[in-house]
Amino acid sequence: MQSSNRPLNPVMPVNMEIIFLYPCPYCGREVPLISPTSPAMAQCDVCRKTFPIVPVDARTIQYLKLVTANGQASIDPDFL
Ligand SMILES: [Zn+2]
Repeated sequence: MQSSNRPLNPVMPVNMEIIFLYPCPYCGREVPLISPTSPAMAQCDVCRKTFPIVPVDARTIQYLKLVTANGQASIDPDFL
């Protein structure tokens, strides 16, 4: 069991995912999906219906992760 006396230090993120919002064609809900890089069916988490989505370019995702060092460059410098 972990000691509950010592306050935990704030935890920094170790990695990053990029979320894309796909508007549900049935109800308009913007469905969040983590970088879908191949054509697939998405399921709306509000109306539960499914719809096909246009994938994102894996190279673009790799680029964004590279230039932010997997999100490390996005950490608030006041907390470093
Ligand atoms: Zn929907």
